[in-house]
Formats: sequence, C-alpha cells, structure tokens
Amino acid sequence: MAFLTESLPNYINGRWCASTATEYIDVFNPATTEILAKVPLSPTSEVNQAAEAAAEAFVTWRRTPPTERVQYLFKLKNLLEEHFEDLARTITLECGKTLAESKGEMRRAIENVEVACGIPVMMQGTNLEDIAQGIDEIMIRQPLGVCAVISPFNFPGMIPLWFMPYALACGNTYIVKPSEKVPLTMQKIFQLLEKTGLPKGVVNLVNGAKATVDAILDHPKIRAISFVGSTPVAKYIYSRAAANGKRVQCQGGAKNPIIILPDADMEMTRRIAADSAFGCAGQRCLAASIAITVAEARHTFTEAIAETAKTRIVGNGLDPGVEMGPVITAASKARIEGLIQKGTENGATLLVDGRQPKIPGCEQGHFICPTILQNVDPASEIAQTEIFGPVLSLIHVNSIDDAIAIVNSHPYGNMACLFTTSGAAARKFRYEAEAGNIGINIGVAAPMAFFPFSGWKESFFGDLHGQGNHAVEFFTQTKVVVERWPSDWSRQF
Ligand code: NAD
Repeated sequence: MAFLTESLPNYINGRWCASTATEYIDVFNPATTEILAKVPLSPTSEVNQAAEAAAEAFVTWRRTPPTERVQYLFKLKNLLEEHFEDLARTITLECGKTLAESKGEMRRAIENVEVACGIPVMMQGTNLEDIAQGIDEIMIRQPLGVCAVISPFNFPGMIPLWFMPYALACGNTYIVKPSEKVPLTMQKIFQLLEKTGLPKGVVNLVNGAKATVDAILDHPKIRAISFVGSTPVAKYIYSRAAANGKRVQCQGGAKNPIIILPDADMEMTRRIAADSAFGCAGQRCLAASIAITVAEARHTFTEAIAETAKTRIVGNGLDPGVEMGPVITAASKARIEGLIQKGTENGATLLVDGRQPKIPGCEQGHFICPTILQNVDPASEIAQTEIFGPVLSLIHVNSIDDAIAIVNSHPYGNMACLFTTSGAAARKFRYEAEAGNIGINIGVAAPMAFFPFSGWKESFFGDLHGQGNHAVEFFTQTKVVVERWPSDWSRQF
C-alpha cells in the first residue's frame, strides 16, 4: 500500500499539493485498526484555491463541446476498469466491506461514468417554431459553474461518482471533499483523472472535515452542492448552502423496512433479506433495518433469518470466504452495541446477539456479528433510530395494511420493500408505500445510474436527486430564447 502514514495531498489546479493544515486525522483499516494514512483537515485557504482554480477552468471547459468533454469520461471509464481490482482492494482496506462488495461498489461507480457519456443527447434542450407567427422559442441547458460533492464513508468510490461525471459532462468544474474516514479511494481515482489529461482546474480534491465543508458551503463561486451522509448533517448543509444562494441536493440517513407476507418464497426472502440487513455490515443507506412479518410469516421468516444470521462468516473483508466485514470505527461499534442494549431494555428480545465477537487474526477490529431483535415496539428508539450496523429488528403484525401503516409512519423514506408472490399485494404496496425507492422481492432497491436515486422525507432534502436525468437537470440551468428574425427575402437574395 503506497499511502502508509504519509499525510495525504490535495489535488488543486492540476497539481498534487501538500496541505498546509495544522490538524490531521488517522485513517484506519477497520478490520485490523492498522493506521493507513493521515488525512489533513484542509483550511479555508485551500478550499478558496480549489474554487478559484475551478472557476478559472470553467471559462474554457464550458466552451469545450460536449462530444469532446465526454472523451475524458471514456478514458476514465477505461482507466477505472484497468485499475478495478486495486480500487476495490483500497475500498476494502479503508472501509472494511468484503472484496466482493467493493467490486460491486466500483461496478456501480463505473456505471455512472458510462451514463454520463450520453450527455450529448441527455443535455439537449427543446424548441418550438412559431410560438407566434415568425417567432421561435428554444430552451437550452447551460452549465452552472463550480460544483462540489461532500461524501460519506460507506461508499468511498461510488458516491462521488454519483455526481461528478454528470457535472463534468454538462460543462461544470468540480471539487470533491471525501469522507475523512475513507479518503484513500479518491486519491487513487484522482490519480486516474489526472491520467485522462483533463485541463487543470476542472477537477479538484480537497480533504478535510467540518471546517473544510463550511468553507465550501460559504464560497461565493461554488454554485451547487451535492451531499450524501447522515440526516442531521444533511439538514445543516441544505440550509446553510441554500442560505448562501446555492443549488443543493442532500441525501440523508435511512431506516428501511421490509415487509414479508406469508405467501413469499421464504427461501429466496431469507437469502435476500440477510444480504440486505447484513451486507456491508448494515452500513448501506439501503440496508434493511426493520423486517415486518405479516401473520404466519412471523414463524417461517423468523426461524429462517435467525439461522442465516448465525451462520454468516464475519472477518477481514480481504479474506476469501468472508461474507461480512467490520463497522467503520470503534465509536460506531460502541454506538451500535449501545442501541442493541437499549432495545432490550425497551422490551425487545435478542434472537441473535452478535456483540463482542472474537475474530481470529482481527482481535482489535471493529466487529459486530449479525444481530436480530424481535418483538420490537414500532414506537421504540431501536425502531426509530438509524442504527447503521448489522442489526435487524423484527416487528409482527396481522395484515398488510398494518405493515404499510408502520412503513408510512416512519420519518425516513429512503427505501421500502415487499416480499410476496401476489401481484395485487405488490401493486397495493408500490402505490401506497411512502418511500422513494421501492423493492418488490428485492432487498437493496438501488436505482441504476440511469434512474434517479429517489429518497423521500427525512432521507432527502432538495428537488432533484442524483443520477440519470435528474443529474442533468441539477447540473444545468435552463435558458429560454424567444427569437424573431424579420426578413425581406426579395431584397436579400
Ligand atoms: P456524516 O453525515 O457523518 O458525514 C458525511 C460528510 O459530511 C463527511 O464528508 C463529513 O466530513 C461531513 N460532515 C460530518 N459532520 C459535519 C458537520 N457537522 N458539518 C459539516 N460537514 C460535516 O455521514 P457518514 O457517517 O460519513 O455516513 C453515514 C450516513 O450517510 C448514514 O446516515 C447513511 O444513511 C448516509 N448515507 C445516505 C445515502 C443516501 O443515498 N441517502 C447513501 C450513503 C450514506
């Protein structure tokens, strides 16, 4: 690993530069607690340099034809494929998920680069001749200027690429502020961006935490902010950036319910539900956190999921055969274990207790094994709070209406799923469930890059989501031109 304990550089105006930060944070491998690098908490002056460089680069970049702009993305796509294994390994090292999960993440990241390559078609405007006699009206899309992303720890490779490829393809210039917990993957992706030959200043990387973010939120030349992270921070960023006149989209936290009807294919449901709840150690914004069993499913599903949870192989994500890695930090582990404890104090019973596991060779790592609480009160803290760990809460009800009522009473609305073999039940659920991403016999209903990632309620603040056409709308402003060209043909020709 090339990073070791060096302090990571920023990438500003086409150059790697050491930060002038006076404070640093250690980056850990969560499976071993080995220190991988030091990340600088970059000062405002470095955000200013990045914003100025990006603003200057914008003048030429926006005039570069879209067909030329996407050539850099085609190159990036090829470089990401070439370095796929190394990028996946880096994600596992700093984030803890299994190598297979890291590869899945990078596949989704690349998919966004591929979709953004379609910008010469996606960015087209509309027009209508003769809105009045001899007068035409056209709507064109123009880029905004400098845009930035502030991203969370759980998808260090994919989440910045939910936004950056579209922003660049639309003619904007860009600043990435990765999570300070997992900055290494973006170091590598920026090394690849450098190789594409993008003009200096078009992409910039500034490491840091809150103070760096605040400098981004306040910089007058940064026109738009994309944020992904927890709901309290999403609300803060949404309000501060909007108060500064910026366009903002903020994807927040989640508490995703899945409903299991008695007619579901229980073998398939068990497998998919376990992957949803325990995959990536439950640290996915689309992880199932609550399973609501309806009528007889209470018995069939409960037995099946308990067995699956107990037998999941937990360990270092780099080791073959491992099905689940650690959670991100010691603080996260302590928080999750505290919530499990509170759940039991509030009346839930522990069906599977994954606390304090011994993982041979990773004794210091931040591990919690799959945990299941049953008889959870829908109003209790464990049922309401985002746990962001491998913990599934079981709630039992007697009808699909009761189950949907629980889904809809929840403040979050990132994802809701139904397991059934009934088309009528599926349609009712799709129609009534108050969440923006819906799964029917799917456990992680993650929209492909050509669909918007549609969180609702406390899971999203803004109007336009990430990915697909929403991304094109977000990263462009419309201009409408009404034209009249009076002519006297006989005289001119
Ligand atoms: P986080 O909110 O702690 O941090 C996200 C980013 O915000 C980081 O870059 C961090 O440096 C910055 N930040 C943190 N506190 C800040 C503050 N007070 N002021 C300004 N900036 C601040 O989130 P996390 O722990 O890195 O990620 C996990 C969260 O992200 C979970 O809640 C998860 O549900 C959510 N998430 C949501 C989605 C989605 O699509 N809705 C996707 C992935 C993760």
